[in-house]
Amino acid sequence: MIDGLNSVLSAEISTHFSHFVHLCEKILGTTSKNMKVNFLSEYLSSLNDESLSVAVLFLSNRIFPLGSKSAVNIGYSTIMRTLSEISTLDQNKIQQIYLKYGDMGALSEYAISKMHTVSLFQHRALTLLSVHDRFRRIADTIGYNSGKSKRNLLKGLFLNSSPLEAKYLTKMINGEMRIGLTEGFVEVAVSKAFNQELRIVREAMLVLGDISQVALLAKKSLLHTALVRPLNPVSYMLADAMFTAEEIIDYYQKPLICEYKYDGIRAQMHKSGQQVRFFSRKLTDVTDAFPELASAALNTNLPSSSLSNIDLILDGEVIAFLHGKPLHFQDLQKRLRKKNVTEQITKEVPLVYVVYDIIYLNGEVMIRKPLRQRKEILSEISFREPIINAYQNIVNSEQGIAAMFEESRDMGHEGLVLKDPDSQYYPGRRGRYWIKLKKELDTIDAVIVIAEYGHGKRAGTLSDYTFAVKDEHSNDQLKIIGKAYSGLTDYEINIITKKLRTIMIKDDGYRVIVRPEIVLEIAFDSIQKSDRHNSGFALRFPRIKNIRIDKTVKDIDSLPKIKQIYNKQVYLMSKNNV
Ligand code: AMP
Repeated sequence: MIDGLNSVLSAEISTHFSHFVHLCEKILGTTSKNMKVNFLSEYLSSLNDESLSVAVLFLSNRIFPLGSKSAVNIGYSTIMRTLSEISTLDQNKIQQIYLKYGDMGALSEYAISKMHTVSLFQHRALTLLSVHDRFRRIADTIGYNSGKSKRNLLKGLFLNSSPLEAKYLTKMINGEMRIGLTEGFVEVAVSKAFNQELRIVREAMLVLGDISQVALLAKKSLLHTALVRPLNPVSYMLADAMFTAEEIIDYYQKPLICEYKYDGIRAQMHKSGQQVRFFSRKLTDVTDAFPELASAALNTNLPSSSLSNIDLILDGEVIAFLHGKPLHFQDLQKRLRKKNVTEQITKEVPLVYVVYDIIYLNGEVMIRKPLRQRKEILSEISFREPIINAYQNIVNSEQGIAAMFEESRDMGHEGLVLKDPDSQYYPGRRGRYWIKLKKELDTIDAVIVIAEYGHGKRAGTLSDYTFAVKDEHSNDQLKIIGKAYSGLTDYEINIITKKLRTIMIKDDGYRVIVRPEIVLEIAFDSIQKSDRHNSGFALRFPRIKNIRIDKTVKDIDSLPKIKQIYNKQVYLMSKNNV
């Protein structure tokens, strides 16, 4: 009885945030990998389900799972202002201390130790769940006037925290845990804590991409439910965007696999014995829409294998293709809207399934093999038309990419997808292993209004720019549309940094507010409606194409152009919703 009570009490105590931060300090204090894993696994096994899923996220330097759209979006200035409001330190002192430590976590620890505001309520011990809940509320607070509400929520957290807890809260908000842990360690600790094979933990992690879900499944001995098996759809690997061949070559510095970007719909083909299924981008079963593909799939075989029946999962694109040319995406959409696939429609809009990846073959999960090996395996499989292997080339130069881009456009495709030959298949993740290169939607000219200091190689230079366009309906007031840090050379950044210092209006230490004078030409992937900026829009994957020294703030683009480009995208959006 007493034992039972003790274990309930200890489970309750270990969910306290103070325990979590002490664990972090212990991990930070040892260089031994074994000790780190031991501390971690002991701690994880003491947690209840809800706290476990939060703890593994925090320990992996995340607040929300990978791929989640939520983000706390709290900048340095909000943290500094909040700290000065509740401590005995004014904003100037806070800035000085920050410059001395160069670390926001240490600053928060110091400031909270000098706290003068006494919470009106009794000091409540923070728990993993209460911290996560507060972070969620901060992330959900959006809109133009959300700053104050976010600060109040943050204040509530700080008021209930000890100096050490404040240090970790700040590190987490900034995504800078830096306690010498990688997600890999957390996986090892999960495997040890719940006595599950590390290989299976890693496989489930590759498939789900979310350490919270994996830890919970491990705890319940249910990891097998996350494994890749035919007829169970797998989340798709997604592509990132770049805008020029130069940027791609510069980034990778190695030969890449280059394929056409087919303008169709993503589909996963599953075959198990005589059963075939196609799943859409949203993982719904769309087999009935593709009868000719399903019957061709039955004739897929592997000449080198003695098995008469092969089982597999493929990734690829369904396109409409007639007389040697792809049809327009809208034709494909028209066919997909039909309830019954008649013979007539299969003739009018014939389909091809272009295969570009393999996820599973005859009992073996392929996702951890490098792409070059997956491609070799694909080349050994014999497909029956209209299922075909994607055409591919190896490119290693800007000219090579440019030539294939032109070829792709001439053939009626959308552009290119360039792939790192060493990359694994990461289900559900968007990353720089696959890069799409499309014709740019358009570019906009915007003016820099805020510049922040960069990190790493760019420390000391003003390399992150917040830019604005004008709003013709409010006297040409400037409205922020986005933030970009890629596209310029180091030389250009140095020049801009010098110029920005001469037009500075306010210096916040880590960023400067400037007179709107420097005009940038910005390329981007798409425009989204967003509460993040006061223009009501945000650019997706913005990239600086040029510094427009020939232009002044009078020449920048205005909101109607943004709206026009936004409307042009409707067609693309409808495509992604298939
Ligand atoms: P987007 O929809 O613009 O984000 O571009 C990514 C999409 O391009 C993928 O989800 C696929 O549907 C499509 N795609 C077309 N061709 C390829 C290819 N060769 N490799 C990967 N994805 C491709």
